[in-house]
Amino acid sequence: MLIYVCRGILGPFAILDLFVKIICAFTSHFKPLIGLNKHYLSVLSETEMIFLSLLDRSWTCSCGKHSMPKVEIIVDSGVLQRISDLVNKLDLGGSCAIVDDVNTRKVAGLEIMNLLRSNDCGVSEVVVNNPDEANVSKVVAATQDKDFLIGVGGTSVLDVTKLAAYRKGSRYILFSTGMANDGMSSKTCSIIVGGKKETIPVNLADAVIVDMTIISRAPSWMIAAGCGDLAADVTAIKDWQLGRDDKKEPYCDSLADWEMSALDSVMNNLEQIRSRTENGTKSLVWALIKKGLGMSIWGSSRPASGSEHLWSHWLDHYAEEHRTKLGQHGEQVGIGTLLMANYHQLHNPNWWNAEEHPNYQAESIMSFLREVGAYTNPTEIGVSRELSIQAFLGAWQYRKTRYTILHKRHPDASDAEKTMNELRM
Ligand SMILES: [Zn+2]
Ligand SMILES: [Zn+2]
Repeated sequence: MLIYVCRGILGPFAILDLFVKIICAFTSHFKPLIGLNKHYLSVLSETEMIFLSLLDRSWTCSCGKHSMPKVEIIVDSGVLQRISDLVNKLDLGGSCAIVDDVNTRKVAGLEIMNLLRSNDCGVSEVVVNNPDEANVSKVVAATQDKDFLIGVGGTSVLDVTKLAAYRKGSRYILFSTGMANDGMSSKTCSIIVGGKKETIPVNLADAVIVDMTIISRAPSWMIAAGCGDLAADVTAIKDWQLGRDDKKEPYCDSLADWEMSALDSVMNNLEQIRSRTENGTKSLVWALIKKGLGMSIWGSSRPASGSEHLWSHWLDHYAEEHRTKLGQHGEQVGIGTLLMANYHQLHNPNWWNAEEHPNYQAESIMSFLREVGAYTNPTEIGVSRELSIQAFLGAWQYRKTRYTILHKRHPDASDAEKTMNELRM
């Protein structure tokens, strides 16, 4: 793929330069090339290409109904130090509240606060401890006089910030210190309401910031869980296609490709992710942002959440009822993807062709998850074989309106047993 960004009118030398780059592109085995100007030429990695596609405001889809949302995305080392510049650039106002927790305030919250204060921004702090209604109300009440919010933390803190900003009707920035799922760039949050976790629609953040210096210190389980949430695309897209074919649901080819390309980029960077190079970690962060943005562009989680998420949601519900914890979201979803990929393979004639898409088969996804250190057996996250089968049977009832392979063919106990046996679970 060749991208040439030209600033100004092409003169004879620039045309010659472009011609040379095209020749280079072909002779370098079609590796992606970019020329930012006639003095700059470099071969881009898959990771950088994803980043460029996220920055491409002119992106449009094949169905003509979808376009790139307005959100600033910065993934870089030392970006925390540039927070004041970003706030000024976005013209967010002169006062804000930092939302963090006891850990993330030490990781980044306090430093962001000091930097903004030294830039004459009126800053206060709200420390939260749980992604529930009480914490959202606390943030809303404590930030009435603030122009905007900055959520600093992992999934829970960011979810509280999203809903508080939505309720306040204010703009907000997400400064992510984790990468265990695709929530950074999605337009939903998961909040516990009346003891039950609910997915609630919110506005997209004005900016999503990931400082690679901080994220490179993230624990290994976050990398594994992030990969688990990404793997979901193989089943989520096939479930969406079932909805299109059986229920005449709206579907967008470009967005389906968009989601699959996020997973591909990580699978193609496997070695780098495993050895935790900066490029490897970046590719995972960008892929998760891309996945979340795909859902934001579509307007619901449909492109990236299918039967595998229903299996996970059933477990979440069970865990809440029994006051226990059954793994992280991405850990559950990775295992759910294995189960549903196998069930699709057995019962969906439109499943990914094994020759064209060897990486998308259940066994390949299992190898991928093992390579990145993710769990591949329900018992590893505290889910017994019996409970896993119960979730398999009950998942479709958790959300009857999201048509998936589980709705097309309600599994019975022997179906669940067969799938578990084939996956050696
Ligand atoms: Zn579209
Ligand atoms: Zn997810």
